[in-house]
Amino acid sequence: MKYFSKIVCIFCLMTTVIYPGCSKKELPLFKDSKAVIPIDKEVERSDCDTLVFTCIDYRFAFANQEFLNEKLGLNGNYDHISVPGSILNLVNPATQDIVFSKVTGFINFHLIKRVVIIGHRDCGGYGGSSAFGSKVAELVYLSTDLKKARQILIEKYPTLEVDLYLETLTREGVHFDKVK
Ligand SMILES: [Zn+2]
Repeated sequence: MKYFSKIVCIFCLMTTVIYPGCSKKELPLFKDSKAVIPIDKEVERSDCDTLVFTCIDYRFAFANQEFLNEKLGLNGNYDHISVPGSILNLVNPATQDIVFSKVTGFINFHLIKRVVIIGHRDCGGYGGSSAFGSKVAELVYLSTDLKKARQILIEKYPTLEVDLYLETLTREGVHFDKVK
């Protein structure tokens, strides 16, 4: 988690999107020159069934992993593309081609059968929640973009299963709502 936050900080600098707290944390230095992280032997297989597409926002990173591994039962067996603004980049004509080319590359290379797209409220890519005027307007807009992203993928890959989720950060945690 701490290591991931360091990665997010780099993205924040690249995109000039500064999230509260992201760039202020002191991270412990990694002093050793080598490290080994044990993995499940299952992940040595050459393909996986699922591709996950999310925003980079550090506030949701840990919850995303928990949701994917524990609630959806993926147990680490998924490819993961994370870009600032997530779904916005799939539906925005200015960025759509390059992002879509990466997504389709994974679909073809790893024989992906299912894509899970997770968007979130208060996304910096959209200008945050305040850009929408109301919570209802934000919900409608983001749900519509999620469905557009699914439609784009299904037009290219008709047999692909595409699951959509919208997540919300509250005091009690991150809520995941399926978008149908
Ligand atoms: Zn975001």
